[in-house]
Amino acid sequence: MKKISVVVPCFNEEEAIPVYYQEMCHVMKEMSGITFEIIFVDDGSSDGTLTILKELNEKDKRCKYLSFSRNFGKEAAIYAGLKNTVGDYVATMDVDLQDPPSMLPEMYRILIEEDYDNVATKRSTREGEPKIRSFLSESFYKFINRISKTEIVNGARDYRLMKRKMVDAVLEMSEYNRFSKGIFEWVGFRTKWLEFQNVERCAGETKWSIRKLFVYSIEGITGFSVAPLSLASIVGVCFCLLSFFMILFIIIRTVIWGDPVDGWPSLVCIIFFVGGIQLFCTGIVGEYLSKTYLETKHRPIFILKDSSDAKNGKCYEK
Ligand code: UDP
Ligand code: MG
Repeated sequence: MKKISVVVPCFNEEEAIPVYYQEMCHVMKEMSGITFEIIFVDDGSSDGTLTILKELNEKDKRCKYLSFSRNFGKEAAIYAGLKNTVGDYVATMDVDLQDPPSMLPEMYRILIEEDYDNVATKRSTREGEPKIRSFLSESFYKFINRISKTEIVNGARDYRLMKRKMVDAVLEMSEYNRFSKGIFEWVGFRTKWLEFQNVERCAGETKWSIRKLFVYSIEGITGFSVAPLSLASIVGVCFCLLSFFMILFIIIRTVIWGDPVDGWPSLVCIIFFVGGIQLFCTGIVGEYLSKTYLETKHRPIFILKDSSDAKNGKCYEK
């Protein structure tokens, strides 16, 4: 009998988990020929998430949980979940029902009947999202796809169903700065994209502020492109050429009109401008350096404080 593992990151989701479980029960009933395990990853929640997960585990052994010692972020939660799956097929999805579990049977059918290694999903619209957020997201995708060799699909959700071999490939990428949307693309394999209408959260509220999204986008850019590092060289060459012509112009002007010290305000502006560009380029180098620094420390991606199998004396892989 085939097994599907479902990885569900949860951060302060006490309201959403029961609703999600109900929904999953329908889906599991519908897919009766398959065994399931749902691995909830409590990402250092401060509300009753862990208590609910423990109750759920008592009630239904298909529901397992991992609990982090603090908030490590959704990417770390997905990694931890994937690492602890045993199914032949593995799905990742949000707990807030923004990734409809009802799509799972169709995704499974595609993997069985068609020649694909994973089925991914993307939103067809960004309805219900604040305008400014949509605009920033759109700009981010345009920018990153221009400078990165790995295609980052606009509107892609982290909701997908993968075959085991793809999961193993994703786990091979044990980098500290994780950007799933890039990692799933980078490993390759044949992907079928399904589109669906954006759905509002079933309960609770989004954990992503614009600031968090900005930090996340920097993670994506530095993780999957080194093009910004060339910026300093390109701007440097342009400025050298420009200054050469300016020097020529000033020499000729001085020879003809003899006017050596005129124009210091423009000089101050130029100094500020060039200084700004230099700091900006140093900043870009610093951004990459800081990522490299964190990567070389080889810190664990997550730390567990509890898990459903810990009671049975089983030690989970880190
Ligand atoms: N999440 C997480 N850790 C975090 C932030 C979010 O595990 O630090 C989980 C959250 O519980 C949810 C999923 O990631 O299951 C998506 O989060 P959210 O719905 O807030 O994001 P959005 O759907 O608004 O992009
Ligand atoms: Mg959500």
